[in-house]
This record gives sequence, structure tokens and C-alpha cells, in this order.
Amino acid sequence: MSQRVRITILVENTARKRNLLAEHGFSAWIETDANCVLFDTGQANALLHNVGALKVDMADVDAIVLSHGHYDHTGCLRFALNSAPQAMLYLHPQAVRAKYAGQPGEAREIGLASITESEIRRQPQRLVWTTEPTQVVPGVFVTGEIPRKTELEDTGGDFYLYPDCREPDPIIDDQAIYVDTQDGLVVILGCAHAGVINTLNRICEVTGRPIHAVIGGTHLVNASPERIAWTIEELRSRNIKLLAPGHCTGPTATAALWTAFPKQISDCSVGTTWTFPLRNVYA
Ligand SMILES: [Zn+2]
Ligand SMILES: [Zn+2]
Repeated sequence: MSQRVRITILVENTARKRNLLAEHGFSAWIETDANCVLFDTGQANALLHNVGALKVDMADVDAIVLSHGHYDHTGCLRFALNSAPQAMLYLHPQAVRAKYAGQPGEAREIGLASITESEIRRQPQRLVWTTEPTQVVPGVFVTGEIPRKTELEDTGGDFYLYPDCREPDPIIDDQAIYVDTQDGLVVILGCAHAGVINTLNRICEVTGRPIHAVIGGTHLVNASPERIAWTIEELRSRNIKLLAPGHCTGPTATAALWTAFPKQISDCSVGTTWTFPLRNVYA
């Protein structure tokens, strides 16, 4: 029998089931018959509560993957690292640097939450710096850096490298996960600051495989109507079977996606779960 992979949303901006907590942030649990991967760790304490409510055992984690270094994806990173001392941490080298948002004179620090860069670097034996596509556990991959090629996709906000808010942060640490299933690739986005379409293009270029599903944050919250319409046409041309936009998609783009893809669209809330057959090559 082929292996299965189960994906569960642990942290998201919405929760629609009893006894689950929502917060602005993202985290997903990816479990094959052989391995467990934690993708991002939410913003504050929702993860701590939800892993108990969803009966997820953090001690089982083989790998923790960070989509990027923003506070809403690294909130329970210390807890995750401590809960699973054997787990490797996959992250882009730029994920640990300071990050800012806002305007000159009103900068907000929006980098790593719950843990500092030096605390992370103090555990070098468990760090895997991902600039290139990398297999995390059999069948589960992280993209590494995503080339920015499309015209309309920017990082989606006033993001800066320094507190003077002059030099824009390209957020080159942004990366996504893809799971190789018998139906095609299941892509899980953290925030997609690289752009959803740039991300899908990179994954197709690297794998040569079709995209079956796209789950997670698409960061269309500040996108122009033109970019939203273009993104929808690009998604349509790929004949994607499951779309579960969440987190930083924003109400306008969420409404547009639900209208454009009534058959493919799915909720993406804390506790939402999908199961797919993993490709047999990983059995
Ligand atoms: Zn972000
Ligand atoms: Zn985010």
C-alpha cells in the first residue's frame, strides 16, 4: 500500500471548530507514514494550545521548516526546537536577520519572535541553510530561494532591511514547501512574499511535475485588482484541483478566489486537514 501524507493547519487567522485558537500567523503539520514536518510556528501562543487540542505530538517532529523570518511564522520556534531536540531546522540564511515594516520614523521590528539569531546559531548541528531546493524528509521538499520573474508580483508591503525604512527588504528568505503526491505536487505557502506564481513557476521548473494543490498564505492582502485578476488567470491555466488560500490572502483576494474557483476552493482554518497518496517512489 502506498504511503499517505496528511496536512493539518495548526495556526491560521481563522478557526472554525470547537476549542481551537486563531491568530494572525501560520503553521502547518505535515505527516507521512514515516515522518513529521512542522512548517512555521505561528505568531504567539496559538500553536501551544492547538497542538494539544489537535493531538499533535511535537516530540515526533523530524524537521522544522521556516517559510521566512517574520514574527507571525516564528512565534513558537523556541517551543518547537525544545520539544523536539532531534529535529533539524531548515531555513534560508536571511531568515535570521532583523526585519522591519512601516515608514521612516515609525519602523516596526517584524523579524524573529520568541528566539534570537544568536540562540539559533548556537545550535549549528541542527541547522540546514536552504538557498536551493532541498528534500526535508522523503517526499517533502522546500524550495529555497525563489527567483522573482513576474512583473506584477512584489513582496506585498512596506518591508525594509533597516529601521530607517529606506532600503526595501526583498525577503529573499521566502520559501515554500511542496509535497510529491500521486495526484501531483501539493504546495504549502507561508506568506508567498516571492509571489504565488513565481513560487509555482520555480517548483515546476525544478520538478517538471504538475501542481495539484496550493494551500496557505498568498500575501495578496495589498495586491492591486490587476494583480489579483492576473493571479487568478495564471492559477486557472495550471488546472489546479485544490486551492486553500489563507493567512495573508486578504478579504478582497479571498472573495475573488472563492468566486473564480467554486469547485476547487477549500477553507484553510486551524484544524483543516487534507490527505493525499504520496508518490510510490518514497515508499
Ligand atoms: Zn511575512
Ligand atoms: Zn505571514
